[in-house]
Amino acid sequence: MLKKLLIQNGAVLYRKNLIAADVLIADGKIARVAPGLRPDRKTDVIDARGLLVLPGFIDLHCHLRDPGQTHKEDVASGGRSAAAGGFTAVCCMPNTEPPIDCAPMVSYVRQKAERESPVKVYPIGAVTKGRGGAELAELGLMREAGAVAASDDGSPVMNAGLMRAALEYAVSAGLFLISHCEDTSLSGDGVANEGYNASLAGLKGIPRAAEEVMVARDVLLAETLNTRVHIAHVSTKGGVQLLREAKRRGARVTAETCPHYFALTDDLILEYDTDAKINPPLREEADRQAVIRGLADGTIDAIATDHAPHNFDGKNVDFNAAAFGTVGFETAFAVAYTTLVKGGILTVAELSALMSAKPAAVLGFEGGGAIRLGLAADLAVVDPEAVWTVEPDKLLSKSKNTVFKGRELTGKVRYTVVDGKVVYGGEAKGAR
Ligand SMILES: [Zn+2]
Repeated sequence: MLKKLLIQNGAVLYRKNLIAADVLIADGKIARVAPGLRPDRKTDVIDARGLLVLPGFIDLHCHLRDPGQTHKEDVASGGRSAAAGGFTAVCCMPNTEPPIDCAPMVSYVRQKAERESPVKVYPIGAVTKGRGGAELAELGLMREAGAVAASDDGSPVMNAGLMRAALEYAVSAGLFLISHCEDTSLSGDGVANEGYNASLAGLKGIPRAAEEVMVARDVLLAETLNTRVHIAHVSTKGGVQLLREAKRRGARVTAETCPHYFALTDDLILEYDTDAKINPPLREEADRQAVIRGLADGTIDAIATDHAPHNFDGKNVDFNAAAFGTVGFETAFAVAYTTLVKGGILTVAELSALMSAKPAAVLGFEGGGAIRLGLAADLAVVDPEAVWTVEPDKLLSKSKNTVFKGRELTGKVRYTVVDGKVVYGGEAKGAR
């Protein structure tokens, strides 16, 4: 039987308010939330004085590179990196080698995660076989094997008719679609946001329209079918506006953005830092502000990482040849806390909702992503005052390609608890 765990003296996010309380965990579940709880001899104790006790973060979008590219990341290393970032559950995209496009592949990831990952891992199955954009994959069988959603992330479904069929089929399979919105006939071989900085740097641009026409298309398709769609990594002002209008009409659309889109702009490409090569690309200040407004007014439902590990060779090349993506697990909370909470835009409770309760709702985990009696004790215990500098070498991810390197951030994850077990911080670490 699991030992009991008592988290004392913290500020606990309970029923949407931060309250001074202790949290008692028994059998992996939240047993009591109240001030002045006393441990017995069979209870481990975490002193959370000065710390915030939050629901564990849930990442709707990451890349674990397993199988096929395990020199970049694998389910175990990705899980450790996620735990270090306060994540207790992550959804991994299917662009592995081979892709996660059938039930045995979903089972492979789930079973490996069960054995080796300190956090919960929910695979996302491919929409089309081989992520080829031609023939629908067996969504129903993947769902039975444990997939939580379907996406051809990175390779958008360009054929609108096929996307419509996928949206219809997903409903009967019990899944929802996550759309990586990029019209590849517009993005072409672009490597940066189309605009002043790309021109200055002599880099090929990716227009905002490449993203926005696909947001519009997928929202319209979902409305036509009265079904739902989730828009991945929203990065443009126009995209946020399209989503706002769609939600106002009652469209069943949800959306996520990533820390780099609300914290950074394409000014970074002027130094040809390949860690700043991301897809969709870092945009301009007006886009960044629009994404922040979208987070603040509920247009954007969730903060996801799009954790995209690449090894040194993938990034230590010419900007044009470099791989797209930045790692994100271990900086997500601090970047969000620094930009949005310290920046006076959101409260801690609002940020927590974007990283836990709302992603849980997107996944259909009713009432999940919260600290609630009887619910699994998945928690992130964070220090809201800690100031630290991002050092790539200290990341637990196998890959060190962080666009936030050298940045000073406020807010640090001290402990991560999954099903009542401390998986990051303190003494007990390792697999569940
Ligand atoms: Zn994507």
